Amino acid sequence: MDLIPVHPAAHYTVGGARADAACRTSVPGLLAVGEASCSGLHGANRLASNSLLEGLVLGEVAGLEAVREASGEPLGKPAKVVSDIRPSVQGELDLSDVRSSLRAAMWRNVGIERTGAKLRDAVEMFDFWGRYTLDKIFDEPEGWETQNMLLVGALMARSALWREETRGCHARDDFPDTRPEFLVHDCWTRGDEGPESVAVETGELVRTRA
Ligand SMILES: Cc1cc2nc3c(=O)[nH]c(=O)nc-3n(C[C@H](O)[C@H](O)[C@H](O)COP(=O)(O)OP(=O)(O)OC[C@H]3O[C@@H](n4cnc5c(N)ncnc54)[C@H](O)[C@@H]3O)c2cc1C
Repeated sequence: MDLIPVHPAAHYTVGGARADAACRTSVPGLLAVGEASCSGLHGANRLASNSLLEGLVLGEVAGLEAVREASGEPLGKPAKVVSDIRPSVQGELDLSDVRSSLRAAMWRNVGIERTGAKLRDAVEMFDFWGRYTLDKIFDEPEGWETQNMLLVGALMARSALWREETRGCHARDDFPDTRPEFLVHDCWTRGDEGPESVAVETGELVRTRA
């Protein structure tokens, strides 16, 4: 007999690439579904156990949409993928070090109880690591995965820092109350300083924040 290891785990990202009812994103030809997407099907969030159902239902929708696009009724020309990554001027990179540091920082600074100070630290850390990681071209999937993990982590930290309130599973020690002005989805585009806000009920863009 031995002790059973018990460790908390995140089981839903509460966000993703924004997708419409046909799983289309703002990138022509790119569909997003399931954990990778933010469909709005359940409003701002979903009840427990609805992620698998959403994945199943919208998975079929995305499949049909992909067939439709492939069979001559394209809704948008697929975007040409152009890599603008220039040869890195930063030094060597220890991928496993970045991954384990990122995991630890996500848990410590962007975990269950959040404060502005810790979130700000996380944003700064991820920006710093990003300078060494996001400008590299890799031969192995582990490298691309690490870049994606860093990008998602950075977006989560930025979004959590911006959301100065407590709502659902986002608990800010320094802003313990729910604030009506944050009854919006925040949509982040790479390179922008702040998010665009989208009404939860209608999906309409309600205002642009600096
Ligand atoms: C611990 C835990 C508990 C959960 N409990 C519940 C629950 O009780 N009820 C519920 O409804 N939901 C639950 N969820 C959420 C649910 O499991 C996910 O939302 C759902 O599995 C998402 O499905 P998906 O197909 O979008 O993504 P995934 O299930 O993550 O599938 C993505 C697949 O893509 C593969 N992949 C990744 N990168 C590449 C690549 N570059 N090339 C090829 N393949 C790739 C991965 O290996 C994986 O097989 C839970 C999640 C976790 C982690």
